[in-house]
Amino acid sequence: MGRRPASARDPFFLPLAGVCGMIFEGGRKVHPELKTVIELQEVDRRVAELDAQIGSLPAEAAALESQLSDFLHTLEVRKERLAKNQKERRELEGEIKEIQARISKHRDQLYEVKTNEQYRAMLHEIEGEEGNIRTIEDKILEKMMEADELEGHIREAESRLADEKARVAKETARLRALRQEDMDEREKLLARRKEMAASLNDDLLQVYERVRHGRGGVAVAAVREGFCTECHVALRPQLYNEVRSNEVLITCESCSRILYYVEPPAESQGASDASGQAAAQQ
Ligand SMILES: [Zn+2]
Repeated sequence: MGRRPASARDPFFLPLAGVCGMIFEGGRKVHPELKTVIELQEVDRRVAELDAQIGSLPAEAAALESQLSDFLHTLEVRKERLAKNQKERRELEGEIKEIQARISKHRDQLYEVKTNEQYRAMLHEIEGEEGNIRTIEDKILEKMMEADELEGHIREAESRLADEKARVAKETARLRALRQEDMDEREKLLARRKEMAASLNDDLLQVYERVRHGRGGVAVAAVREGFCTECHVALRPQLYNEVRSNEVLITCESCSRILYYVEPPAESQGASDASGQAAAQQ
């Protein structure tokens, strides 16, 4: 009776107020500690959810960081390849200049040779050098095509770099804010949990904690239509009747969870009642 009005107004307990409202509406008398145990379960469930989320955030942040560093690394590698390409191209152009100088020297020498044989040999030499120039020009063309491709990739990446950095910064800030929100909510819930645990009698709290640790974090189970909704075992009729009152603390004989009763959805029944009433009023 007005045991915890503050909790009902606390926004963190809204989902729970919903659950309690659903179960305990109609002013039925409910065992006060049963209410607390259900609320405690809800708090523990949310704390576990928050712990999982808080635990997953560092990996998410690291993944973002590595996306950006991969992006920068790829850009850097391409820039290095382009610089190497340009250096190789300059070297090839230098080679052509050297060959051209040799050819020019050979052409001058053509006027100095004494025999036809020497003349033909010199022409042959010049043709060979010209062939070398064509081979090098083909290589330069390949370098130019490779450079075009690299420059395209680099331009594209550089135009995206600012956006990419902004995206990672924004996402990292979001994760940091989320972590803070989670931590704040967790802290409030743990303070609330302490209050609730203190308000329970020690035996009940021990049962709650023991079952929670032994049953995957869930120590409380709703009973619907005669079944424990956690272990799905049917309750004995006598036990079921006791649970239906919600005035006693009962544990499931199969899974040991603390049981509470949930009214079956009353839609069909409610609808026929409503129409019956409407008919009676006419
Ligand atoms: Zn059970």
